[in-house]
Amino acid sequence: MHPIVIIGSGMAGYAAAREFRKLNTEQELIMICADDAANYAKPTLSNAFTGKKAPEQIALGDAAKMAAQLNMKIVNHTWVKSIEAQAHQLHLENADGAASMQDYSKLVLAVGANPIRLAIAGDGSDDIHVVNSLNDYKAFRAHIDECHEKRVVILGAGLIGCEFANDLQNTGHSVTVIDLAPQPLGRMLPAHAAEVFKENLEKTGIHFVLGTTVEKVSKDQHGSYFVALASGQSLKADAVLSAIGLQPNTALAKAASIHTRRGVVTNAGLETSQADIYAMGDCAEVNGTLLPYVMPIMQQARALAKTLNGEQTAVHYPAMPVAVKTPAAPLTVLPAPVDADVSWETETLEDGMLAKAVDADGTLRGFVLLGATAGKQRLALTKLVPDLIPAAI
Ligand SMILES: Cc1cc2nc3c(=O)[nH]c(=O)nc-3n(C[C@H](O)[C@H](O)[C@H](O)COP(=O)(O)OP(=O)(O)OC[C@H]3O[C@@H](n4cnc5c(N)ncnc54)[C@H](O)[C@@H]3O)c2cc1C
Repeated sequence: MHPIVIIGSGMAGYAAAREFRKLNTEQELIMICADDAANYAKPTLSNAFTGKKAPEQIALGDAAKMAAQLNMKIVNHTWVKSIEAQAHQLHLENADGAASMQDYSKLVLAVGANPIRLAIAGDGSDDIHVVNSLNDYKAFRAHIDECHEKRVVILGAGLIGCEFANDLQNTGHSVTVIDLAPQPLGRMLPAHAAEVFKENLEKTGIHFVLGTTVEKVSKDQHGSYFVALASGQSLKADAVLSAIGLQPNTALAKAASIHTRRGVVTNAGLETSQADIYAMGDCAEVNGTLLPYVMPIMQQARALAKTLNGEQTAVHYPAMPVAVKTPAAPLTVLPAPVDADVSWETETLEDGMLAKAVDADGTLRGFVLLGATAGKQRLALTKLVPDLIPAAI
């Protein structure tokens, strides 16, 4: 029998391997990835400064350690160029450009998402950082550590932009966050909660410039940047970080005639439209839903491991709140499903607010817990929210 092959060494790829090995220690398992296969928790990247973690301290294990731990062959620095779904074969290319083939019995796409990049004019635009991997973070930190002044402009006031803003401002940097939307966390928070969240971050010195975008980033001879905004305003910066969102990596799947929409489409069993090919993690659109977070990955990995071991199993999505790592404004959000028609019931607290998204039947569909007092309600409220995908289908 050919091996089970996992493409990708992110949290999804490693979670799938780990869960599978709990059930099956014999079946040959191969992981193929374009990067070095270092195992690390990506969420630690956006609070590493505050946690006093140097980039070298973030990885939990390298490819050799992980291969031994999971009794798995890891082929790193190797791209999967294409999938021949009928033949159950992969075309590979390594860092030296050498091509090879790999057979599989079952294939797991755990290929993640790619940062969206704005087309920005100016001779400084190539220096704009993105952070979606430990290697990206190493490059960003190397740049930041070289800066004399510590002015950082962040494009995007979403979860990742706000977390980096808080982490950098906390540690002696001077941060400006720019977003086209009129509020931070536009996809997660209603306007009234976003306003309080923003005010709390502003108290730390973070500056928000909202309702506009960056048009041009130019460089001067000292290595500083001028960031020109569509509003006519311009800012000086020593580093620019783009965090405007991620796009599921669907190219490989699409080229193999696997059904894709916003992500690689799967059913609740994580099966794609091609036999023996599964998708999970940031690349996957499971039952119509993209959830690019850690908790869904763990649920997916547990279900997929059983399926790969011969017991077809659907993923179970309980309500999974997301903790936003902004200590200046401790926040837990359970976004209501996009198709749910909800109204907000809000309680203002001394140190924040508790806002409940309730549908016409009076069912709690989501919530916002801002501040330590509200945060204590997390478990109790989560239990009241219906599962996104029930335990059994
Ligand atoms: C800064 C930051 C902070 C975050 N904080 C939180 C948080 O607090 N809580 C939370 O729940 N979530 C958080 N997230 C989201 C969470 O980290 C992601 O959902 C998760 O790490 C995604 O893992 P993944 O394995 O799906 O994708 P990735 O980590 O992107 O892994 C993709 C893998 O696929 C490989 N690959 C892609 N294409 C190919 C190819 N053709 N051939 C070979 N290999 C390929 C890549 O090399 C890589 O190894 C955060 C994300 C970021 C960026």
